[in-house]
Amino acid sequence: MPLYDFSCAKCGTSFENNVSFRAYLAEITCPKGHRAVRRIFSTPQVVFKSSGCTAPTSAEAENLQPNRKYN
Ligand SMILES: [Zn+2]
Repeated sequence: MPLYDFSCAKCGTSFENNVSFRAYLAEITCPKGHRAVRRIFSTPQVVFKSSGCTAPTSAEAENLQPNRKYN
């Protein structure tokens, strides 16, 4: 069961809850008992990693080689 991050709009407490996909926010309470919780959608870090670590295509690699000579 995956853990989801939640933030309480009343007290600002951040907490995790392994709710099922059928659960609704109204059924979730923060550790202090508030019901005004918001789901925190954390951006998958894979997006950032893939943008910076993708291997260049053969065409891009050829374009990079002349630049390396100048360096
Ligand atoms: Zn709270």
